[in-house]
Amino acid sequence: MNPRLLVLPAAALLALTACGSTSTASDASSGGTPEGALVVATTVSPLTSIVAAVGGDKVDIQGIVPEGVNSHTFEPAPQDAELLSKADIIFVNGLKLEDPTLALAEANMKDGAEIVELGTIALPESEYIYDFSFPKEEGKPNPHLWTDPTYAVEYADLVRQKLSERDPANAAEYQANFEAFKVEADKLAEAVRTDQASVPDGQLKLVTYHDAYAYFAKNFGWTVVGAIQPSSFDEPTPAEVGALIEQIRTEGVPTIFGSEVFPSPVLEAIAAETGVRYEDSLRDDDLPGEPGSPSTPCWSSCATTTAR
Ligand SMILES: [Zn+2]
Repeated sequence: MNPRLLVLPAAALLALTACGSTSTASDASSGGTPEGALVVATTVSPLTSIVAAVGGDKVDIQGIVPEGVNSHTFEPAPQDAELLSKADIIFVNGLKLEDPTLALAEANMKDGAEIVELGTIALPESEYIYDFSFPKEEGKPNPHLWTDPTYAVEYADLVRQKLSERDPANAAEYQANFEAFKVEADKLAEAVRTDQASVPDGQLKLVTYHDAYAYFAKNFGWTVVGAIQPSSFDEPTPAEVGALIEQIRTEGVPTIFGSEVFPSPVLEAIAAETGVRYEDSLRDDDLPGEPGSPSTPCWSSCATTTAR
């Protein structure tokens, strides 16, 4: 079997989030948008990317969670309050991913501003997924909807609706941007489905560093065998490592997916111990490129981007 086949779905997902503005709160004064443009704050970089794809150059978009930072344990800095106080719209994932930032936003938002929880709107509670990294007893569902292109489109549509409502003069542009995004995301979903059809039966199994593929796996027919990062986001205990090694052997997992952003010597050691291929050139919660690098809209070419 061609080993690339197992890599492509993750690479394709990467491509979906690999574009768009990744500005941070530190460049809150950056120009380039029209006078009077909506000021839009976002949290994690995939959300910033989706909002940038729809808003284009008509809105002033500022991402709060810096790249290379664990979004699940992120605590906003005091200066983020200033950005949140200026924002007209604050797009967050919700599903309890960014509670500290949400609290800061609620405490500082100006009159007329609004918070839109994209994931909370997109996902009915009956479809929440709880798992080893997001156990039900802790009350936080797995929040990673955006690694599934179909949910990314839903997010983009919600962004389109909200931007059009607040800025009707540019509604046609937001609609066009959304449609362009949808075309690329649909192509990506189709490419993943076509590609994964060539993976031998029973081998659509995911072992990852971070447990970010629950909804993708459900909709695309993959089985999430495990993730090395426990619910505490600390390093796993020896017992947890032992259990995962056992699972990998029992399930016959062909590849373990690490993360370029969060190198994991533990995952590497597990791969060595089990003799399974270790692929750590991909990313999930974060975007490629230098942190804070200028926006490089590439929606027309995103679907053909491959892993670096
Ligand atoms: Zn995550």
